[in-house]
Amino acid sequence: MTLSELRKRPHWSFSSLNSLLNICSLQWYFQKIAKLKPTHTSVNLVAGCVYHRTLDQVYLSRKLEFPMTLDEAKELYTEDWRRSSQEEPIKFGKLDADGIEQQGRGLIEVAWNNIDDTEKVLQVSEVFCVPLIYDGRFLSKPLVGEFDLVVQKDDQPLVIDWKTSATRWAKNKADKSLQATAYSLAYWQKHGVNPDVRFDIAVKNKTPVFESHVTSRNEDDWKLLGMLAAKAETIVEKELFYPSRDSFACSDCGFKGTCEEYCRGVLPAKAA
Ligand code: SF4
Repeated sequence: MTLSELRKRPHWSFSSLNSLLNICSLQWYFQKIAKLKPTHTSVNLVAGCVYHRTLDQVYLSRKLEFPMTLDEAKELYTEDWRRSSQEEPIKFGKLDADGIEQQGRGLIEVAWNNIDDTEKVLQVSEVFCVPLIYDGRFLSKPLVGEFDLVVQKDDQPLVIDWKTSATRWAKNKADKSLQATAYSLAYWQKHGVNPDVRFDIAVKNKTPVFESHVTSRNEDDWKLLGMLAAKAETIVEKELFYPSRDSFACSDCGFKGTCEEYCRGVLPAKAA
């Protein structure tokens, strides 16, 4: 099944859990339950999706042993960005559309220059749908998602997630990542192997920088993920949503106006 087919059934994804538990539960409510239309889409989200789709093609062509050139990869980025940036209202920050395009081409180039030829591509965009378990019982919704890339490294599978970031990551950020926990659990459930997870990050410095952070998880981490998912289900069931008004997400939130009204006691109507 494809990811979009799997997403049609009720499910949890890492980003949904993260958004509800760690970013802002009210924003999650506006998006997932009230199904309100945001005023804009974050430029980082749109450009990040274009970056992912471009690397998808780069690694698929490597897997098929029909590699493209760097210039072709950068052109793919440009075409996809120009198309995608027309499709929805985007809120731009310091860079306009041309600036984002140039930045994105630079990020593709730095990712390209850091491809490790000794890593064999096993899968690109591998989907998963696995059960979440807490306290000996299955939760009502499975965990659905996609590994950006799985390679064979030193005879072991390694799950890789591609990211772009405004800043370099702190040293212990990968070790705390709920995403790495979700991905190692999903891979283990699917394949019976507990892989390391690596975040390959293109940092948006003036001259882009590339860094990789490897981390691993164990059964205790997976139990914690099950507990957090169970808490998330309770939050939804009991409608325990509230605004996290000092969240980093506020500055780029597409529900800011609705949130201000909510904070004055005006409850939004659910979309039809
Ligand atoms: S503006 Fe901030 S507090 Fe309000 S919904 Fe958005 S992220 Fe949450």
